[in-house]
Amino acid sequence: MLIDQEKCVACGNCVPVCPMGAIAIDPGRNRAVVNTDECVECYACFRGMSMEKLNPALVRGIRRLLKIFRLRFDPEPDVCPTSAITPNELSWPRVVRRAFSDPIVTHESTGVHGRGTEEVKTNDVTNRVGLGEAGYVIEFGRPTVGVRFRDIEKMTCALAEIGIEFEPKNPVTHMMTDRKTGKLRDDILNEKILSAIVEFKTAIENVPSVLRRVDEVSKTLDTVVSVGVSTRCDQQGNSALDGVLAEEGIGFVRGKTNLGLGRS
Ligand code: SF4
Ligand code: SF4
Repeated sequence: MLIDQEKCVACGNCVPVCPMGAIAIDPGRNRAVVNTDECVECYACFRGMSMEKLNPALVRGIRRLLKIFRLRFDPEPDVCPTSAITPNELSWPRVVRRAFSDPIVTHESTGVHGRGTEEVKTNDVTNRVGLGEAGYVIEFGRPTVGVRFRDIEKMTCALAEIGIEFEPKNPVTHMMTDRKTGKLRDDILNEKILSAIVEFKTAIENVPSVLRRVDEVSKTLDTVVSVGVSTRCDQQGNSALDGVLAEEGIGFVRGKTNLGLGRS
């Protein structure tokens, strides 16, 4: 995203809208500027604000005049008064920032918008994770923090070493050059995104070693990490995962139970 320097009147309305804190008012130029290294191309500023078409010279003149009388001209807080917020033409690899950060963009690799995966929420229909298997969702990044692909790669490579199976219908898996090693494409490693989800599965007995590895690696990353584990219950509703977690002393709650209603 760019700020048109001819149009911006430095009202500051766009600054708190950015979930990455990437917009600031440059006091020297008296214009808003975007830190393009931190901008994840989520489009929150462009889409979330009303764009008015006031004349920038006129607005600056009024602001200068009012300042003399210790008054301010401030537009409504959700308005860019001069339509200065301008989407940039995105090319590869920067375009992956938008694909992973703008919730209304559909991931081409999976056909799913948002984070690009149905996760295990539809497991009752898809059977991604079968009886005796554990499915994992590792989420990297959050608004205000974000994540670079090089940190995601540290985790995927570390997990690949202990023998896991990455979920094929997942946008991060599609960025891998080698699904056996977890290696991601070199040209996206420095790209920063709002968040991403890595999914994979193992046999249930491997849950403790996987969680230990996730814990070790997450401490080395420049982002936040959360992890969910799921399994398929038997016909009585029992889950072999419960015993494995209890034995490891890992506290847990059954966050969600999907009932198979999707089949009808
Ligand atoms: S596109 Fe998103 S991250 Fe970039 S400046 Fe706008 S709000 Fe901030
Ligand atoms: S809202 Fe528009 S005019 Fe105000 S600081 Fe941001 S880009 Fe500039």
